[in-house]
Amino acid sequence: MRAPRNAKAPASVEIDPRAARAILRGHPWVWRDAVRKAPSSLGLGEPVVVRARDIPFVGYALWDPASPIALRIYARTPQEPFGIDTIAHGIERAAALRDELFEDGTTSAYRVCNGEGDRVPGVVIDRYETAAIVRLDGEAIGAWKEPLIEAIWRILRPRGIDGVGLRGTGRTPSVETVAGRPLPPTIEVVEHGMRMRVDLAHGQKTGAFLDQRENRRRVRELSRGRRVLNLFSYAGGFSCAAALGGATHVTSVDLAQGAHAAAQKSFELNGLRAADHAFVTADAFAWLEQAARRGQVFDLVISDPPSFAPNEKSAGRALGAYRKLHQACAAVTAPGGILCAASCSSHVDMESFLETLDDDALGAERFVMCGAWGPPEDHPTPAAWAEGRYLKFVALRDRSR
Ligand code: SAH
Repeated sequence: MRAPRNAKAPASVEIDPRAARAILRGHPWVWRDAVRKAPSSLGLGEPVVVRARDIPFVGYALWDPASPIALRIYARTPQEPFGIDTIAHGIERAAALRDELFEDGTTSAYRVCNGEGDRVPGVVIDRYETAAIVRLDGEAIGAWKEPLIEAIWRILRPRGIDGVGLRGTGRTPSVETVAGRPLPPTIEVVEHGMRMRVDLAHGQKTGAFLDQRENRRRVRELSRGRRVLNLFSYAGGFSCAAALGGATHVTSVDLAQGAHAAAQKSFELNGLRAADHAFVTADAFAWLEQAARRGQVFDLVISDPPSFAPNEKSAGRALGAYRKLHQACAAVTAPGGILCAASCSSHVDMESFLETLDDDALGAERFVMCGAWGPPEDHPTPAAWAEGRYLKFVALRDRSR
């Protein structure tokens, strides 16, 4: 594949004026049905100038001949030439923002570049201590792989990164070292001073759910003296935070075989005795039913399930599933207890999610909200890109005591 370079003047693609307005508001995508005129010779990942009927310059983008997203926008200023340097500059700016955010050194795992969210579409970079894991979303940016990796290595090396891994986009996770020293299969990181073991080779996302960092901190602050239930616990981030925050007992429930081994390791890294807590391999829905039947209750319940809505069509069904789940969570929440409900479905927005936590779902006058949060600062989004704000985290307090 010919890597696009800075040299020649890019081809031009005309788009629908409405799509152009979305771009001018800061949205990063042009859907294929909004493309009016494009040269038939355009190749995968080719840099183009985007224009509309009355707007000679809308932005610079990369062309994808097959994806439903035909164009992703990388720059909106016509002056600068468009190429790898533009993209590298975007990554550099994203990295500089994190230098500021994580200056105090108590967190060593965070998102260095949030793709579209940092206005560098398709380029996701997560840092785990001295390792960087890169994910390239979409084939257009994939065509730039080699010069991109070079640029990433140049930008991150002076920041203490000693190895870069490229995450495969297939269903089963795979990571290939593409710069620096070979990546270790697991690595230890700190998050607000909490130590965590991260599985770089087989973990979900790029290894861990970094987007929940501030919510884990919130849970830590809410846990003192409470009996905690963590549903869909995965590597036990919320569980460990709760125990560190002074929970009297933590029950972690996850369906995946082996999820708890990582959690127990993280407990021990923090000087907590995993054996003092419960780790249950079970279906959360079935387990909740049994717990309710036993009359078991908790003072803090956390629910962070996998996405129930993989696409727009399934959003309605997903809301039903959230509602059912939240009802079951409320049934095991003690008087005066707190219920924390999360959703990572981008097709379910905050207001719809809150409908699954209203009085109709949880019981008349029983709960009040104490807070609702979106993604953290290292997962920024342009205001116009609602799709990027997939993460929702809501805390409610039972007032029946
Ligand atoms: N809360 C975690 C991330 C959760 S990811 C964190 O902050 O790191 C979702 C998890 O739900 C996965 O570990 C998956 O194994 C688990 N899971 C999926 N379906 C489940 C079910 N029906 N019951 C219990 N766990 C389930």
